[in-house]
Amino acid sequence: MAATLIDGKALAAKVREEVAAEVAALGHVGIATILVGDDPASHIYIDLKHKAAEAAGIEARDLRLPAATSEEDVLALVAELNADDAVDGILVQLPLPAPLDESRVIEAIDPSKDVDGIHPWNAGRLYLGRPTLVPATPLGVMRMLAEYEIEIEGAHAVVVGRSAIVGKPVAQLLLLANATVTVCHSRTRDLARHTLDADILVAAVGQPHLIAADMVKPGSAVIDVGLTRTDEGLRGDVDPAAAERAAYLTPVPGGVGPMTIAMVLQNTASAARARRAAIAKAL
Ligand code: NAP
Repeated sequence: MAATLIDGKALAAKVREEVAAEVAALGHVGIATILVGDDPASHIYIDLKHKAAEAAGIEARDLRLPAATSEEDVLALVAELNADDAVDGILVQLPLPAPLDESRVIEAIDPSKDVDGIHPWNAGRLYLGRPTLVPATPLGVMRMLAEYEIEIEGAHAVVVGRSAIVGKPVAQLLLLANATVTVCHSRTRDLARHTLDADILVAAVGQPHLIAADMVKPGSAVIDVGLTRTDEGLRGDVDPAAAERAAYLTPVPGGVGPMTIAMVLQNTASAARARRAAIAKAL
């Protein structure tokens, strides 16, 4: 039997509507993005985020700096945005061009405005089981599992990939939802032995079709985060033939991708709500 394809596009549209309603209720929500340099893919991502933010009623400030900008100037801009009450979310598009120190720039962001959820304060809260702002892609993965009522509690979840932005936070979220979690990476021996035992398989590697159909457990839920541009088009980490074995599968494109931007917007609305509550409490 063929898998149910998880429709990330439709779910992302639903999340964006929810965010628009929340933004309308909050009155004003603002995001500022910082893009340094001229990486073409980064420009495309920033344009997409702005379009989506504006459609949800979020005021989006687009700050673009030349590649030669000094670290001090980037840090000064972050400090300015931290102090600006009209800005609820700050997003620094990565990667930053060399020699800028990404960690220094990220750690300069006010954690309550860190809508990418990558400041050590937010990452630490997630690790301790008290998540605040969580990276958007892992949030999108969890929302997909929830929406399709895929049981997480007690399931064996296998995450392939251990980056700070996808693999590790998705593993933490699955653990928080009471899955038994295995994290695989480039040094894992016999990857198939692990993936074949996964009730929930999350692939976040960036190697087209690394997960062959016969590496997937029959009846499992497979979330393909991987996105690689090839001459034949966009490719995920999972061979689409896995649909013959899995119960659920996210397509590429149209799966996790659209969810990521929607969840950045959701994080921005959450940051705005939390900041309003903190300000009201302080008054
Ligand atoms: P990353 O930082 O390059 O991490 C890749 C991970 O895959 C690493 O942990 C690496 O292991 C592991 N890996 C590499 N080769 C492997 C192999 N043969 N077997 C098992 N694990 C292997 O990438 P990322 O930022 O997490 O992104 C992963 C993929 O998701 C990329 O294709 C990216 O474009 C995509 N992505 C998509 C979205 C979306 O919205 N759909 C969002 C973010 C990322 P080591 O740690 O040992 O090196």
